[in-house]
Amino acid sequence: MNEIADLLIHARWVIPVQPAGVVLDDHTVVVSKGRITDILPSADARGRLAARKVFDLPDHVLMPGLVNLHTHAAMNLMRGLADDLPLMRWLQEAIWPTESRHVSAAFVHDGSLLAAAEMLRGGITTCNDMYFHPEAAAEAFATAGIRAVVGIVMLEFPTPYASDADDYLRKGLAARDRWQREPLIEFAIAPHAPYTVSDRSFARALALAEELELPIHIHVHETAGEIADSITTHGLRPLARLARLGLLGENLIGVHAVHLDDADIELLARHNCSVAHCPTSNMKLASGIAPIPRLLEAGIRVGLGTDGAASNNRLDLFQEMRHAALLAKVGSLDASAVPAHAALHMATLGGADALGMADRIGSIEPGKAADLCAVDLGGLHCRPCFDPISHLVYVAGRENVSHVWVNGETRVDKGVQLLHIRDSELLRIASVWQTRFGN
Ligand SMILES: [Zn+2]
Repeated sequence: MNEIADLLIHARWVIPVQPAGVVLDDHTVVVSKGRITDILPSADARGRLAARKVFDLPDHVLMPGLVNLHTHAAMNLMRGLADDLPLMRWLQEAIWPTESRHVSAAFVHDGSLLAAAEMLRGGITTCNDMYFHPEAAAEAFATAGIRAVVGIVMLEFPTPYASDADDYLRKGLAARDRWQREPLIEFAIAPHAPYTVSDRSFARALALAEELELPIHIHVHETAGEIADSITTHGLRPLARLARLGLLGENLIGVHAVHLDDADIELLARHNCSVAHCPTSNMKLASGIAPIPRLLEAGIRVGLGTDGAASNNRLDLFQEMRHAALLAKVGSLDASAVPAHAALHMATLGGADALGMADRIGSIEPGKAADLCAVDLGGLHCRPCFDPISHLVYVAGRENVSHVWVNGETRVDKGVQLLHIRDSELLRIASVWQTRFGN
């Protein structure tokens, strides 16, 4: 016993994601100072290493924490508020009126706290968020201890949060200044969508993203109507317009990207953009089927997003993995489209790569942050288990997540405990807002 680590996690299987498709039997992940320092056979680790904390996970997969590449965390407060409507009616009749009455810093803080708790418990250790009051979302994420990229949201029209595009940017940048030193919190520029942002505001967003080296997080080509409207208004499809404005680049994360022609795919590939695929939201709002196999074939980086709880209605990346794999098959009539390991890659390293964080998170490799998730495959519904990667996508669910670590700190322990926040307090917050909406 000559080495003392902070954490030793002995797992039945370790799935590092990088290299792709690898499953390590009976391996141990060693963590010190928040980072992964080694991965070795448990038989070697048990005799040689000691740690302040040891986890024995005899029926479990240890994998990288999941990366939710697109969400609106605060919308957890509107979960199930309006269902079974297409995007524009859902926005115009339900979501925007509710937001204009109720959105405040307190709303965003409380909704984001509920979302962070839900995500952590389901194995999500990083989220890419877009909503009003980013300063309040950042505070909730920091409290919960989830890694987050907080969107500096901008649109043209006034809301209770901001009066115009410049005001959105000013407020978002102030939030970034305030939270810049919090290690788990980062920022992105988040112009809402081509149909809510002007050419002039896109130019400002681009200048800021370049100056501050931030990702650009934007909804694109979600519905067929969005494309028809853009052709009428601008004479161009939305992606062609963004290309003309200079926005397409390796830092651009295009959310949804459902309706794409060959030229759109060529634009995304040529500019090395990435895509946040949100299969459940696309199905629920009947937006369509994103051509993920073609995007992967073109070398485009793809991650998975839940979207907000008002259009999903779960922040559950296990569900997104399964839906991504199934939807690709039914959309292409090819059962080999998006196999299990590709879905797992999208939910982890693919998302990290899109955020420009692939050197720090998204896989279990020495030197990376210890953002990890353990999934218990010991239950009756998970047996037998011939291939744990297949089980993660087609069998297990977030209810099987037993442990979660962010930066080497335990956030979920034996599936029941979420550290730092009490369940009773979260339930009280949800009920206060439900009562307010009811009035
Ligand atoms: Zn969205």
